[in-house]
Amino acid sequence: MGWRFVDYVEVKKTDALFARKDMLAVLAVRNEEGEFHLRLVGEEQRCVALVGRLGEFVECSAYALRPDGCRRVEAGGHACLEARRDRGIG
Ligand code: SF4
Repeated sequence: MGWRFVDYVEVKKTDALFARKDMLAVLAVRNEEGEFHLRLVGEEQRCVALVGRLGEFVECSAYALRPDGCRRVEAGGHACLEARRDRGIG
């Protein structure tokens, strides 16, 4: 693996997820600055909310609560396709 995120997508106070403390505890971790970021898991360091198999079918299990940062990239949109290309996912 060539890179690793230290902090992934931030969960801000204005995000609906921030108010859902039960879900926040599952989906996020706090960094040294006290900011919440989506939790990364596994060897691939993927978002804990992402379920399925990469390159085949994946979905966000927290779609309705996904933070603002997640909403900036649309599935199948330009940024999405570019990121897939960069990672060798067809
Ligand atoms: S869209 Fe969902 S699966 Fe993707 S990073 Fe955001 S919360 Fe995680």
